[in-house]
Amino acid sequence: MSRKSPRFEQGPIRPPNEARSLLLRITRNCPWNRCRFCPVYKKRKFSLRSVDEIKQDIQAARDAADRVRELSWKLGSSGRVDDAVISQILSSPEYSDSFRSVALWMYYGTGACFLQDADNLVMPTADLVEVLTFLKEKFPEITRITTYSRSRTIVRKSVDSLTRIREAGLDRVHVGLESGCDAVLKFMQKGVSAAQHIEAGKRVVAAGMELSEYVMPGLGGRDLWREHAEDTARVLNRINPHFIRLRSLRVPRRVPLYEDLVSGRFRMQNDDQLALEIKVFLENLEGITSTITSDHIMNLLPEVAGKLPGDKQKMLAVVEQYLKLPDKQRLIYRVGRRGGAYESIRDLERDPATYAKISRLVEEVAGERGPEGLEEFIAELADRYV
Ligand code: SF4
Repeated sequence: MSRKSPRFEQGPIRPPNEARSLLLRITRNCPWNRCRFCPVYKKRKFSLRSVDEIKQDIQAARDAADRVRELSWKLGSSGRVDDAVISQILSSPEYSDSFRSVALWMYYGTGACFLQDADNLVMPTADLVEVLTFLKEKFPEITRITTYSRSRTIVRKSVDSLTRIREAGLDRVHVGLESGCDAVLKFMQKGVSAAQHIEAGKRVVAAGMELSEYVMPGLGGRDLWREHAEDTARVLNRINPHFIRLRSLRVPRRVPLYEDLVSGRFRMQNDDQLALEIKVFLENLEGITSTITSDHIMNLLPEVAGKLPGDKQKMLAVVEQYLKLPDKQRLIYRVGRRGGAYESIRDLERDPATYAKISRLVEEVAGERGPEGLEEFIAELADRYV
């Protein structure tokens, strides 16, 4: 007789580098929810979850992990979650999605856990400490616990409180910095100032946690791009976070910023302008040791990645290389990248068949829709990922 598979709640998103982490939902949605560029939690109401409820979910995840292990023994895999175990679980309808996610987490063996949703430091410190302590107790095999939070929320916590949270098990906080320019932050209704970003970042670092700051190239639009690039670099220079992650702006119809795009209040940077903006941003990063990543699918140049200060010139060279491409190749790279075929400028030379295919597509679209239509086509390709 089959037993009902344990299930627990999971939220809609996690950072790209947490794709293989165990996902547990600690709060629901976003307590701010007003950023004009953000599509994620709109029309969904924020709520705290009670400590008891979260503990029940952690217990359900533990039960799921134990069941997976049990199944592995039954299948002759000696407790390991190997291909045979994972394919049995993924192909059987008796298991819930959350159960499968635990099995996949064990299969990947990352040991990482990401606490969802948008701003978990909004929880009272004592509650969060209790949850983290319980989680570590139930899952001694977890080696890293991370979460999202907002700078505005972090500045309400003392370094002492943040230190208690770190000691209870929270290793890393991902913060949506987006911009260090006050005019951009205000226009986008981010609900935080550059000074608060700096203070929050410093507190997280002082508490001994790792800090990952998300920056949004393009958020200044054509009018404020330079201020956005320079001020964001200045703010990061004051914080020196462990990680700076680039995640470029896209504006799908469902975000409030789309209205500004239509009315002309906001003018979007095109890909070439964006590359120049990233160059100015990188040039202005000084005296810090952060690791930069561009692993988000919405980024034009994923190769802009490395550790400061040593890799700064290498990253700048990637942008220069893109800007120096002949017009036709730059266009082919953009279509290839936005369409998901290219991950590197070097891909232009690696695969002549793909190059020829994209080249024909560019000619066809330009012939049918003209240069503006081609730009729209590239934007449509990019927006599929938002
Ligand atoms: S704080 Fe984050 S999740 Fe909330 S609306 Fe802003 S960008 Fe979206």
